Amino acid sequence: MTPDERLEALREHFREIVQVNEQLTEQLDAARDRQTDLTDEVDQLERENETLKTSSLYIATAEELTDDGVVVKQHGNNQEVLTEVSPSIRDGLEAGDRVAINDSFGVKQILDPETDARAQAMQVDGSPEVSYSDIGGLEEQIREVREAVEEPLINADQFREVGIEPPSGVLLHGPPGTGKTMLAKAVANETDATFIKMAGSELVRKFIGEGARLVRDLFELAAEREPAIIFIDEIDAIAAKRTESKTSGDAEVQRTMMQLLSEMDGFDDRGDIRIIAATNRFDMLDRAILRPGRFDRLIEVPNPDVEGRKQIFQIHTRNMNVSDDVDFEALAEEIKDASGADVKAICTEAGMFAIRDDRTEVTMADFHNAWEKIQQEETDDEEVSRTFA
Ligand code: ATP
Repeated sequence: MTPDERLEALREHFREIVQVNEQLTEQLDAARDRQTDLTDEVDQLERENETLKTSSLYIATAEELTDDGVVVKQHGNNQEVLTEVSPSIRDGLEAGDRVAINDSFGVKQILDPETDARAQAMQVDGSPEVSYSDIGGLEEQIREVREAVEEPLINADQFREVGIEPPSGVLLHGPPGTGKTMLAKAVANETDATFIKMAGSELVRKFIGEGARLVRDLFELAAEREPAIIFIDEIDAIAAKRTESKTSGDAEVQRTMMQLLSEMDGFDDRGDIRIIAATNRFDMLDRAILRPGRFDRLIEVPNPDVEGRKQIFQIHTRNMNVSDDVDFEALAEEIKDASGADVKAICTEAGMFAIRDDRTEVTMADFHNAWEKIQQEETDDEEVSRTFA
């Protein structure tokens, strides 16, 4: 082999080595990427493992953020402690947040308000937009509610000086759709109180096993937001007469009711909170909830009479373009047995008839058609429920 040939062979060999080197570098890069992926996966699995191994966390509310740490109050036993928080958690923490704490009260996590059953079970309204003038035909009931709920909130001192206890709770009872919820909202509005509503039926249907805790939370929330009106709708769902049966569902309902009674019994020093409950089934109620110091003021909210129906028509047509031929007096006479909610539905439906007809003015005929349609729908509903009964 000549020297030139040897040189060429060496060059060729060198090129091959460079190529192999490139291939190996590529393989190495790919292996490094894979290693990073696997390390991430291992990290994640380790974290999951850690979470699974750690004991459950307790739920608490961060009450106060101070320079020395955070004051948290554990739900359930109401124990208050001053605890340290890691800077990363502290940055996102605000007083009033729900947090998860471990055995040594370290704040591990800020909980999303959406996961809060309280938020789902209760409807909280800082200032409901209903006033007494929006309620038709219930002058006497409004007077009674004002006396039993509004006066003690506004003139608490007067009650103290005279030395009498205002009624603890007010029970509104009467058929559906007669304005019970409106009454409760209107008092909250007139007294600048927070309106907190909880539906008894949802409590036992949706939040099984949590009823008693939610009732406790309800009163706690009201204390945080006072002055407050607690409105418990469909109270018969949690306060029906005791039955002999001992199924677990009944036991759960019993526990929820016992919690409600004990909250009401220990209620005196709770400040500016008033309780209003409503029911369509007064006959079903356990008399224990009607004892003095509990729901000791009963107010019946019946279906409106003719004058009431006329007023409710006027209220719900305030913003409607109603033609001159509409006679609310005559309409009110015609729709015997209608509830306030029915009158509202007639007004909306009459408006729909006008729109379907491409008119901007609502006529007497529209109101008649609306009433017929609503009656028909009610008959259909009754037939359906009879078929499935
Ligand atoms: P339920 O027992 O079914 O919960 P309720 O008695 O609480 O019913 P509301 O929810 O207050 O009834 O009323 C339903 C709707 O009917 C109200 O939003 C309102 O539009 C209308 N309504 C009922 N009663 C009256 C009334 N007296 N005056 C004006 N509107 C009324």
